[in-house]
Amino acid sequence: MRKKIVAGNWKMNNNKSETADLIQALKSLSFSTDVRVMIAPAFTHLAQAEELTQAGRIEVLAQNMNANDSGAFTGEISAKMLHSIGIDKVILGHSERRAYYNETDVGLKQKVKTALTYDMEVVFCFGEELDQRKAGSHFEVVQSQLETVLFDLNSTEWSKIILAYEPVWAIGTGETASPDQAQDIHAFIRGLIASKYDEDLAKDVSILYGGSVKPANASAIFSQPDVDGGLIGGASLNAEDFIAIIQSI
Ligand code: PEP
Repeated sequence: MRKKIVAGNWKMNNNKSETADLIQALKSLSFSTDVRVMIAPAFTHLAQAEELTQAGRIEVLAQNMNANDSGAFTGEISAKMLHSIGIDKVILGHSERRAYYNETDVGLKQKVKTALTYDMEVVFCFGEELDQRKAGSHFEVVQSQLETVLFDLNSTEWSKIILAYEPVWAIGTGETASPDQAQDIHAFIRGLIASKYDEDLAKDVSILYGGSVKPANASAIFSQPDVDGGLIGGASLNAEDFIAIIQSI
């Protein structure tokens, strides 16, 4: 049975003590056992975050990783390194990685494979750009992203995949997909998985929505039947807002 998930992507924000303060503020929160709460601090604070959350239910994930195990890749972090400090989850394919660091679906496919080799869970981000939405090609775009990166995985590997549909036009812009727009595409995504694999597998995959989720719009989006939570950027940096979003699920 799939879980509801609220994950905060802290991006390149918060120094060491700000990260610790935000974690402390979240630690007192209690939430239902069918909900998972995750945070993705910067690489430099992952070990600290892992220690601070050890006794509780908040899970820590990385924002990215390299596809290779080791080698001459200056400035990069491997799955093996993450694994060695107890990090067993990673966000891959975020639109900012695609836009600013030229990440492609073909490269992401390799990253997903590596992460799975280390038994890591992957929050895989994908979604269309504004011109693609305007042209009505968002269903095709999303289909192609999923087919290229994930559709050769077997069903055991799928148990490690969490999907995050993030329309690029809604990320950090204040524009949000309406609850109906989110439901339409989430149902389409689940249908794609059902037709490639089977209904049971499709029912078990958590599909998160990301793009300007705030306390004011979270419950309308999360109440859609195929929306299983959210990947939250800006609003996850403020403890009060992030807690309000978690409580909306
Ligand atoms: C994100 O970066 O994944 C995101 C959804 O950001 P925001 O919530 O700020 O739009």
